[in-house]
Amino acid sequence: VFGNLRINRTRLVDRIHQLGKIGALPGGGVSRLALTPADLAGREQVIAWMRAANLEVTIDGIGNVVATRKGRLAGRPVMTGSHIDTVRSGGLYDGNLGVLAGLEVIATLDDAGLTTDRPLAVAFFSNEEGARFAPDMMGSLVYEGSLPLEQALATVGIDKTTVGENLDAIGQRGPAPCGEPHVHAFIELHVEQGPVLERKGVTIGVVEGVQGICWRSFCLEGVSNHAGTTPMSMRQDAGLVMGQTIAFVRELTAKHPGIQLATVGSVTLEPNLINVIPRRARFTVDLRNTEGPALWAAEQAVIDFIRKAAEAEGLQLTHESLARLEPVRFSPAIVNQLELVAGILGHSHVRMPSGAGHDAQVLARCCPAGMIFVPSVGGISHNPREFTTQTDIEAGANVLLHSLLRLATVN
Ligand SMILES: [Zn+2]
Repeated sequence: VFGNLRINRTRLVDRIHQLGKIGALPGGGVSRLALTPADLAGREQVIAWMRAANLEVTIDGIGNVVATRKGRLAGRPVMTGSHIDTVRSGGLYDGNLGVLAGLEVIATLDDAGLTTDRPLAVAFFSNEEGARFAPDMMGSLVYEGSLPLEQALATVGIDKTTVGENLDAIGQRGPAPCGEPHVHAFIELHVEQGPVLERKGVTIGVVEGVQGICWRSFCLEGVSNHAGTTPMSMRQDAGLVMGQTIAFVRELTAKHPGIQLATVGSVTLEPNLINVIPRRARFTVDLRNTEGPALWAAEQAVIDFIRKAAEAEGLQLTHESLARLEPVRFSPAIVNQLELVAGILGHSHVRMPSGAGHDAQVLARCCPAGMIFVPSVGGISHNPREFTTQTDIEAGANVLLHSLLRLATVN
C-alpha cells in the first residue's frame, strides 16, 4: 500500500529555503544560535507548519518540540527529527533537513490519505550545536534522561546568561514533561558533514554508529638552555617529545587503517624562541575510534609512549583527560532495514560511522535508533557554503519515509 509513495521534493526544498531566511547572514548561510530571538523565529515557523499539518505539538521543560500524528493504534510513536539551532555562521541543511524531511513525510501521508498503525512524531531538540551552551545535544540528553533538567537549565552560556533565563525570555520553556512521549524507534536524516559519500559517489550513508572520542592534554617540563652551548647529550628538551608524539600517533593509526584517527591539534612551546631549548611543551591529543576497546587501548599506548620518551629525555610529565565518550552503535535491526530500504528505492548506499555527534546517538540509549546520511558537497559543514543537492535531499527523505513506514507498521 505504501510502495509507490514518494515525498514532494519541491515542497521540502522550498521549506529548507524558507527556514534558511530566518537568521539569514548577508552573503549566505544562517545564524540561529540556540535560544536566541533568531532561534525563536525559526521555532515559530516550524511550529506553525506542524500545527498547519494538524499535529499535536508539545514543548517540554528544556524547549524540545514534539509534533505527533495519530496512528490507528495508541502507544509509542515512531519518531524522527533533529535540530534547528545552528552554529554562529552555519548552513541551511545541518539539522534543519532532518526536521523538515520529517514534516515532509507527514505531508506525503496526508496527501495520500494514509494512516500508519503506530503514531508518527517529528521532533526538534534544543541546543544540539552547543555553540552557546555546553554540552551539545543538550535537549536530547535531557529528553533521554542522562542530563537532569535542573542542571541543564542552570547552564551558563558564553554570554554569562543561563539556559533557563533564555528559555523564559523566548517563551519556550514548555509544560510537557521531559522524555515524553516514550519512543518506539528513532531515525534521523542528516547531512554527512564530511567528504566520504561524495568521494565514493554514493547517495545514502547508512550510519552504523558514532565514533568514540578521547581528548587528553599533556605538559612536559624540561630545562631551557642555550641552543649553541648545550651539548645534545645534555639536553632536557620538552619540544623533542612533543614532536615524537606527533609522529607516534600517526604510526598508531596505521595499525588500524580507516578506523583509528589521531590528531595533535594544539601545541605550545615555552619560551618559544629560536635559540632557546624549550623548557615546556603543552599539547593535546584527540583520538577517535568506532570501537571502544581499541580507542581506550590507543589512549593507553599514547600515555605509555610519552611517559617512556619523557623519561629518556629527563622530562617531568603531567597529563589529564579532557573528554572520554564511548562509541555508540546503532540498532543492527534498524541499520539492516535502512540498507534494505535504500536498496529497494534504487539508491547506492554504504555503511559508515558518523564522525560528528548527533541527537540520534543520545536517543539510541532509550530506543532502537539509526541515522541516514546524504552527501555534503565538498564535505563542507558548519559553514554558510554547506550544500546538499536536491536529488540527494529527495533520496534521503524517501529512505526516511519508507523506513518510518516500516517501523510504524504492526505485522
Ligand atoms: Zn546537526
